Amino acid sequence: MKGRLAVVGLGPGALDQLPAAVATELAGADHLVGYRSYLDQVPAELAPGRREPYELGEERRRARRAAEAAAEGQRVALLSSGDPGIYGMAALAIEEAAGLGERGPEVAVFPGVTAATAAASLVGAPLAVDFACLSLSDLLVPWPELAARLEALCAADVALVLYNPASRARRRPWEWAVASLQRHRPQPTPVAAVRRAYRAGQSVRLADVGSMDELEVDMETVVIVGSSRTVRRGEWLVSLRDEAPP
Ligand code: SAH
Repeated sequence: MKGRLAVVGLGPGALDQLPAAVATELAGADHLVGYRSYLDQVPAELAPGRREPYELGEERRRARRAAEAAAEGQRVALLSSGDPGIYGMAALAIEEAAGLGERGPEVAVFPGVTAATAAASLVGAPLAVDFACLSLSDLLVPWPELAARLEALCAADVALVLYNPASRARRRPWEWAVASLQRHRPQPTPVAAVRRAYRAGQSVRLADVGSMDELEVDMETVVIVGSSRTVRRGEWLVSLRDEAPP
């Protein structure tokens, strides 16, 4: 019997942000595969299946293992944070399942609340009109390719969401992004840095393009940069469809 590989998005962290369809998959899974801290987010009562935790950076192995287990006939849930299709596990899972050929399991992808929309909700509605997402991690994308995209998007007048802004060892893309934004966008353009959205220790900091180099960012932070349509209303950021009133 062929099993099934469900790639599920856990959302930003809090269990009440878990989609009901994901909760149903987690409850019915024989086998749960995921990064250790994602598995720890899900109490055993909600997901009684056997757990196989992995450490950071083992994405390909995790996806292969999940596809194999599903090919052997199990119902497998492969966990991703946020949305599994956005810098998550879905692409690798589909590849690994396809790589098994005839033996390959059925795959289903279950969306979750991604960091962009989770963070946006905490600062208002900065993504209400066009926006773009960019990951500043140059681990999997060659730096020249990332730099070209960064430059083009900083110059385009759209709101920008920066995932994976910087780690302790990797600050260059962030410094580049800041310099490029300061070159291309008006200095008062609003910026928000949201850390640990919907998790313990959540923090929201507002700044502007001119002062964004003072923001501390890490791998638990997502940064939202406004466009010329983004205005600050007290503690809220709003991107307006029509011209902002004076
Ligand atoms: N699949 C995930 C993204 C994984 S990439 C999603 O859809 O959200 C990991 C990056 O996402 C982190 O470096 C950070 O920039 C962002 N991120 C994920 N969860 C977050 C949270 N709760 N608060 C702030 N940023 C978060």
